[in-house]
Amino acid sequence: ETFKDLGLSEQILKAVELLGYEKPSPIQRKAIPEILSGSDIFGCAQTGTGKTAAFMLPILQKISDSFGFVESGHFRALVLVPTRELAEQVAENAVKYAKFTDIKICKIYGGVSQNQQILALEKGVDILIATPGRLIDLFRQKKLSFASVEFLVLDEADRMLDMGFINDIRTICAKLPGDRLSMLFSATLSREVESLASSIVKNPKRISI
Ligand code: AMP
Repeated sequence: ETFKDLGLSEQILKAVELLGYEKPSPIQRKAIPEILSGSDIFGCAQTGTGKTAAFMLPILQKISDSFGFVESGHFRALVLVPTRELAEQVAENAVKYAKFTDIKICKIYGGVSQNQQILALEKGVDILIATPGRLIDLFRQKKLSFASVEFLVLDEADRMLDMGFINDIRTICAKLPGDRLSMLFSATLSREVESLASSIVKNPKRISI
């Protein structure tokens, strides 16, 4: 099975080819067609399995298919991650996957100046990759709006719970439009992860690798 068999479009396939990915990894084979067809995802997968492309490629494709103007402070996809390092890593990969599209990707996290992040948000972005604390901080300062979110990804959900982000995540998710596609990924499963998932993903396709 190739990336093309999964239903990905030419501009996404070109980027994947340029990166030298020869065939989709198991999580990619399972998740990409489901996301393209509009299913929520509850995925159990570790980092290193190709999880980022599994959610990012179909999101890029869906955004490209209905590409348009994004209002200042708005974004169409929100990827929540536990740490600055993961935000950097996900954003770096997303930019590579988006190489042949006009999709704008922005990352925000704490511990650094807000100014650049606020300026980037002002222009309107397609995909925002964020840690929960800084996201809420900028929301409270009215620098961003959740009203245009169509896609939500919770990456490393177990780690976010371990780091005490549960209330932040709930605060953020309560502000998102209900009519959205949601994906939650966790390396481990626990009652806490299941409970969080039950309030975030709707009739999800469960994927484990
Ligand atoms: P991730 O699990 O998303 O952090 O990805 C782990 C590493 O695998 C990253 O360096 C990706 O660039 C790479 N990768 C992702 N998908 C593939 C694939 N289908 N073939 C080869 N490498 C891949």
